[in-house]
Amino acid sequence: MLIAGNWKMNRGPEDADTLARELKSALSEVDAVDTLVAPPFVSIVGVVSRLQHTGTLVAGQDLHTEVSGAFTGAVSGEMLRQAGCTHVLVGHSERRHVFGDTNEVVGRKVQAALAAGLVPILCLGETLDERDAGQVDAVVHGQLAAGLAGLHSDQVATLVLAYEPVWAIGTGRTASPEQAQDVHASIRNWLAKNHPDYVAQQMRILYGGSVKPGNAAELLGQPDIDGALVGGAALDAASFTAIAQASPL
Ligand code: PEP
Repeated sequence: MLIAGNWKMNRGPEDADTLARELKSALSEVDAVDTLVAPPFVSIVGVVSRLQHTGTLVAGQDLHTEVSGAFTGAVSGEMLRQAGCTHVLVGHSERRHVFGDTNEVVGRKVQAALAAGLVPILCLGETLDERDAGQVDAVVHGQLAAGLAGLHSDQVATLVLAYEPVWAIGTGRTASPEQAQDVHASIRNWLAKNHPDYVAQQMRILYGGSVKPGNAAELLGQPDIDGALVGGAALDAASFTAIAQASPL
């Protein structure tokens, strides 16, 4: 199980340090699951330092496709690695829908993350219109194909995937455990069709979308759900810890 917290554009360096201290203390009781947090860029170095030797890893929320150069405002994978990140979110729905990252750009970002030695957490998910139109599999499989394009199976197996239905992110509306399990199984089937068996068996597929302490156990109890990507509830150390403790062992 991997429980990952996406802090989005919340917690600058001072506030991030407070939250990291709280997490350090609260998560010291939790050792059966892996944990990770993704603070805003400016808070990464401080959070890495605060969480050193705790086992909680740190991720970037996005990266640029290039390593360096004239890209004002952007941050590369190599910079994240130097700052102490081990992972990076790629293709989060807010990057896709607010900042316009296309499937093709997401694929290049996955490659850039791997080249920098980071584990990409590739986010996938359909909008409500796409779900209502019966296009969930087509959308998610298309995002998978583009996000993993050009990678060897050995590389694919190192990634983490996060299924996050867009209509469930930050809305308080969560997919039912059955809805989430159906899509996770469909993702695993796609992997099994396109890669050797070990890839589908080995890959962690997280669920994201309004995961809270009250719904975590049921979601995390589904056979193809290997953890959670948590937004809002990750900003509260007690809630994030309760979600981690809800993971079946
Ligand atoms: C997210 O940001 O990835 C997310 C799932 O947010 P929330 O838990 O707030 O829905």
